[in-house]
Amino acid sequence: MKLFLSTDFEGTSGVVAWEQIIEGSAEYEQGRRLLTDEVNAVINGAVQGGATEFVVNDSHHHMRNLHPQDLRGHATLITGRHKPLYMMEGLDASFDGVCLVSYHGSIGAEHAVLSHTYNPGAIWEVRINGEVVGESGINALVAAHYGVPIIFVSGDAVTVQEAQSIAPDAEKVIVKQSIGRFAASHTHPIVACELLRAGAQHAAQNISSMRPPEFKQPVSLEVTFLVADMAEMACWVRDVERVAPRVVALTNDSLLDLYRMFVTVVTLTRALVDR
Ligand SMILES: [Zn+2]
Repeated sequence: MKLFLSTDFEGTSGVVAWEQIIEGSAEYEQGRRLLTDEVNAVINGAVQGGATEFVVNDSHHHMRNLHPQDLRGHATLITGRHKPLYMMEGLDASFDGVCLVSYHGSIGAEHAVLSHTYNPGAIWEVRINGEVVGESGINALVAAHYGVPIIFVSGDAVTVQEAQSIAPDAEKVIVKQSIGRFAASHTHPIVACELLRAGAQHAAQNISSMRPPEFKQPVSLEVTFLVADMAEMACWVRDVERVAPRVVALTNDSLLDLYRMFVTVVTLTRALVDR
């Protein structure tokens, strides 16, 4: 059984501030330890549930948060920036399941610690077929394209709730309750890791009953930006259409190409983020 782990960082127990999860900050090493323990808890549990092969795609910020020698399960680690499939780089049809680890709520969610949708400096909201989605919903396009079920999701309560529609049968583990965008009540890391281990074991054991995410065709992905210039710039990409001053619609028959269009739009509009 071969599993793909897409690991973010904001959904780790103990994490509430950018300073804990951005390289070079004083608290970063502490954050990285907490994240690594959670990723390993998922791998250990999945091994107990029958998984034998792991590819971990570090998906947060500059994507060098995990160190290969610290990972359990002899996992292959994908790190570094500018990956064509970004948070889903490395996934293909050879995998049996996808685990979304340490994920977080979408930018507009209520009580979602460190909430954002890809780029908080540019993206105000993303909808797929009219429904507001977070990163789990967007990344599910790639899982759906390759026909691989999302079997496990972890983060705060909002993360789990947002993943419900794309992965109804996935094992979901809540490691903290968000109080606001920069505050949360954390399950103790030892307890959190035990929950993650047990959840991943259960997910692996039940993998045969899980189905890949489904999207009703034709799929339309709408991005609302913070400012109109970003929407203007997004239209430089073929098949991106302006539907309101700050809103563009992306359409493509291929779910993979739709995700790639989204990644292109995200990358392009970074040029207009105010700092
Ligand atoms: Zn994220």
